[in-house]
Amino acid sequence: MSEKGTISIHTENIFPIIKKFLYSDHEIFLRELVSNAVDATQKLKRLSSLGEISEEIGDTTVEVSFDKEKKTITVSDKGIGMTADEIKKYINQIAFSGATEFVEKFKDKGDAKDIIGKFGLGFYSAFMVAKEVEIISKSYQDGTEAARWVCDGSTEYEITEATKESRGTDIILHVADDSEEFLDEWKLKSILDKYCRFLPVPIKFGTKDEQIEDGKDDEGKPKYKTETKDRIINDTDPLWTKSPSELKDEDYLKFYKELYPMSEDPLFWIHLNVDYPFNLTGILYFPKVKNDFEVQKNKIQLYSRQVFITDEVKDVVPEFLMLLHGVIDSPDIPLNVSRSYLQSDGNVKKINNHITKKVADKLDELFKSDRNSYQDKWSDIGVFVKYGMLSEDKFYDKAKNFALFTNTEGEFFTMDEYKAKVEVNQKDKDNNVIYVYTTDPGKQDTYIQVAKNKGYDVLLLDGVLDSHYVNFLEQKLENTQLKRVDADTIEKLIDKDEKIESVLSADEEEKVKGIFEKAVANPRMNISVNSLSPDDMPVTITMSEFMRRMKDMAKNGGGQYAMMGNMPDQFELSVNGNHSIVGKILRAKKEDKKVQLAKQAYDLAMLSQNMLTGKDLTNFIKRSIELAAE
Ligand code: ADP
Ligand code: MG
Repeated sequence: MSEKGTISIHTENIFPIIKKFLYSDHEIFLRELVSNAVDATQKLKRLSSLGEISEEIGDTTVEVSFDKEKKTITVSDKGIGMTADEIKKYINQIAFSGATEFVEKFKDKGDAKDIIGKFGLGFYSAFMVAKEVEIISKSYQDGTEAARWVCDGSTEYEITEATKESRGTDIILHVADDSEEFLDEWKLKSILDKYCRFLPVPIKFGTKDEQIEDGKDDEGKPKYKTETKDRIINDTDPLWTKSPSELKDEDYLKFYKELYPMSEDPLFWIHLNVDYPFNLTGILYFPKVKNDFEVQKNKIQLYSRQVFITDEVKDVVPEFLMLLHGVIDSPDIPLNVSRSYLQSDGNVKKINNHITKKVADKLDELFKSDRNSYQDKWSDIGVFVKYGMLSEDKFYDKAKNFALFTNTEGEFFTMDEYKAKVEVNQKDKDNNVIYVYTTDPGKQDTYIQVAKNKGYDVLLLDGVLDSHYVNFLEQKLENTQLKRVDADTIEKLIDKDEKIESVLSADEEEKVKGIFEKAVANPRMNISVNSLSPDDMPVTITMSEFMRRMKDMAKNGGGQYAMMGNMPDQFELSVNGNHSIVGKILRAKKEDKKVQLAKQAYDLAMLSQNMLTGKDLTNFIKRSIELAAE
């Protein structure tokens, strides 16, 4: 029997189109063929377990091999196999309709890259690398003949009887001239490692026999023996498929090292195991988050029934969880469709929500069960928790119970605890509680000490996300404002409307202002004379919280604030009329002396803002020496 036929198809020359579309992803042909072989094997096992097959099914290892001379790549399985009729049905009709649909759908779309890898083209992806494909198959069903199907990538195929004794299917690719790079051991091995590493059926690569040294002969020359090396390339029961109750910490750490050989140990992990309303298994690890977290993204691998699909999990995993590492396996994630579909898919949304909830629950549990160890890890997980709070309201609702504040004393507080701590002492005249914070304890030390002397607590908000976090907290927390410790003079930072009497007359204040204007001579300084406590600094330079945040936003994001970025910085310079230096300035006989003292006080304020540099710094040092020598 020999039969020739034409594959009924609307699109002429489907293969050049397939080839072109999937150009950058040719390697997936191997994933498709091996996973078909695995499917056929598992179908056989299922039939056997249902008692449909009487004899032992024996070894079911899938073999991948290649022959450089013959220019072939072969994928062989011992699965259910196909009869000639089944080949016609499954390969000519079903597989082809999938390929046709693909081309119909995407031939006019410009964003082919987006589709690549999301669309399992199935069997026909073989033609991305082959000029001719042969199927030799024998069904598991008693009394059926083996069949051979050949197709050269045109719409014509030939089907004949074949001689094949054993059950299963061989797919033989006759590799096209422009794809000979795939006839390479290293290349094929690396593709198998990527996609087939955790397939549930053993995969053997390279059936070649090897000459192994085996002692020496009488003349002392090495003897060789022929051995077929055991080259199973996959782990058929990866950790995520096991029950969490069987596993120890070592197992999780070992698996992590397998996935990311060069990485530091993770902080902790979550084993996902859901079967309703969707199927999902997986293990998510919390790495130590580095400040440069772009490089840490795309570390989660997505599988569908243990077949690697992609490590671009952007739409399946919430954005803020992209910092996690690990694997997710779900047959319910539709992988064969475009990204925009994925985003609107109900299952994907549910998976998203579920993962978010699990992560929040895990953090809550860690916090409650061992607060000290949680606090120790806070410097690593803090960025992650804040990122989550900023980006997902649902996460915020849970995280507000385990998100921590740290202050300059190194103490930790939950949001509620912190409120209770500062509520009384840091309330202003309008009943707002003011959280005072520093973004750089080294540079803002002078201001921090002034605030502490006043009995205020100073939060440490020096992380990469904290400028966003500050804005966010103000929106979330009622009657609460956050002010950087150098945003105002200490009396105004938390304005309690406690008036301090001025020792200066209005006339003297004017005079002092005039002297400072002359000494400072800087249009960026908005000078005022105020009555502060005599213990406060003689001169304080501040930039208002509002102004600084606008500047930060312009720097970080641009947009509507971009124009602010071009504006020169504007500072408030507050002269403390009650300070003894001011009295000394007024009493000084010579004008030169007045200006010299004012300059000195001004430079000291500049110094504590880290703004005194260059010539001004040199002059300050000279003047300090002169004053000390007087
Ligand atoms: P899919 O795997 O999504 O069904 P494919 O194009 O990969 O689509 O394969 C089409 C069909 O061809 C399969 O559903 C299966 O019935 C049949 N098939 C492919 N490869 C094999 C194989 N190695 N053994 C048995 N049947 C196979
Ligand atoms: Mg398939």
